[in-house]
Amino acid sequence: MSDGIAKEPIQLYEARKKIHPKRATGSFRRFKWIVMAITLAIYYITPWLRWDRGEFAPDQAVLIDIANRRFYAFFIEIWPQEFYFVAGMLVMAGIGLFLVTSVVGRAWCGYTCPQTVWTDLFLVVERYFEGDRNARIKLDKAPWSFDKLRKRVLKHTTWLIIAVATGGAWIFYFADAPTLLRDLVTGQAHYVAYATVAVLTTTTYVFGGHMREQVCNYMCPWPRIQAAMLDEDSLVVTYNDWRGEPRTHGTKKAEASGEAHGDCIDCNACVVVCPAGIDIRDGQQMECITCALCIDACDDIMGKIGRPTGLISYSTLNDYNANMALATDPESATLNPDLVRDKDGKFVDAIKHFDWRIFLRPRTLLYFFIWVSLGLALLFALSQRDRMTISIQHDRNPVFVTLKDGSIRNGYNVKILNMIPEKRLIHLSVEGLEGAVMTVSDIEGAPASFATVPVDPDQVRSLRVFVRQSPENIKSGQTPFSFIATDQQSNEVDTYSTVFDAPE
Ligand code: SF4
Ligand code: SF4
Repeated sequence: MSDGIAKEPIQLYEARKKIHPKRATGSFRRFKWIVMAITLAIYYITPWLRWDRGEFAPDQAVLIDIANRRFYAFFIEIWPQEFYFVAGMLVMAGIGLFLVTSVVGRAWCGYTCPQTVWTDLFLVVERYFEGDRNARIKLDKAPWSFDKLRKRVLKHTTWLIIAVATGGAWIFYFADAPTLLRDLVTGQAHYVAYATVAVLTTTTYVFGGHMREQVCNYMCPWPRIQAAMLDEDSLVVTYNDWRGEPRTHGTKKAEASGEAHGDCIDCNACVVVCPAGIDIRDGQQMECITCALCIDACDDIMGKIGRPTGLISYSTLNDYNANMALATDPESATLNPDLVRDKDGKFVDAIKHFDWRIFLRPRTLLYFFIWVSLGLALLFALSQRDRMTISIQHDRNPVFVTLKDGSIRNGYNVKILNMIPEKRLIHLSVEGLEGAVMTVSDIEGAPASFATVPVDPDQVRSLRVFVRQSPENIKSGQTPFSFIATDQQSNEVDTYSTVFDAPE
């Protein structure tokens, strides 16, 4: 039934408002520049580092060699069956992220996430060509002119160059970087290389240049997951309204009239530097990446008006709640900034401040313990792993053959893995089969109790091995025995147990 009044349709979609973050200065911004320089340098330079592994292995320090199924990282070489090392490192990275988040909230997002780092880099370019926040807003609103076109073309061209370099650097992790670069430039690289560069160029350009905070807000699951990682003792960027409220636009005027007022002068400096486009004074928000640029901006303002810094700070919820309780007038239930200051305007001693001991709570200690234990276990496994192994597969059909002299023969597929970049001579023998002799495919010589097998560097050698036993030595239908592979130079040994089948 209609009441005759036309109702406005409810809007479920709100168009994005473009954010023009102002350049911030201060200690957190400096720290972010340093982290940005280090992370970008690691990403772009690593594929060009060399590591001498001898003539039989690639000399690229970090290489994911998909064709030969190897992963190289400096002195470590991982074979496919050792993938658990990579899995272990990924688990360590996950636990490390839990640990960092439980201590300092979304520090990963604010400082080291590639989305943050590349957006920051794209912002540097934007600022260089178009100026800081106000100039960019003005340019956005200005009609098209030669100057606007020139600035836009230069900005987008530089963004695209960075994006191509980013996509290009990624594929260098998967092949010899100098060779691949030459092939790329001369048009001789595989089409997959060009396609990968094209996809990564597009994503870098779109995510870093255009989508920016939308990637964090709508595409990344981490902002939602982080809520479960935080607790009352995690450090998060907090507006301390217990000392900031009530806000005033004119401190002197408020002081003269005796009006109660906090430290916030409502200058909006914290809002205009925010890359997420939020006002931290509205409380904790999912969009906040904990970059702390609002802390820098506000500290700068506090310095200028002669107030203590830290109106916006890294604080724990417990400290914030305690300070809020201190600043709240029990009768009116409103904030009274005079309650947290003494006669001289200094903060009273009961105010809670940052305490290093919050890092040592059960949750963080547990994460740290698991992280360190995993790391030590991986290091131990790395130091103990075999660099030469054999694996055996017994023939299934037929499991044995009776030869015309009455002896019984079993066939085996033997693989010898030489996991070092040097040639080896492997002494292959059987143990536990009385009087047994063997013949090995590709290895010349009369049947004997052992064979000497050369194995190329960093290779797997597959062999057909036939083991023969005379009927007088056969005691049962199935005799367990072992193949033993011994490196003649290093005496490294690997053993594989299997069975010898014979008629019952
Ligand atoms: S509110 Fe502050 S810490 Fe959060 S994203 Fe904005 S500037 Fe960074
Ligand atoms: S920068 Fe500080 S003083 Fe200015 S509005 Fe933000 S919280 Fe208030």
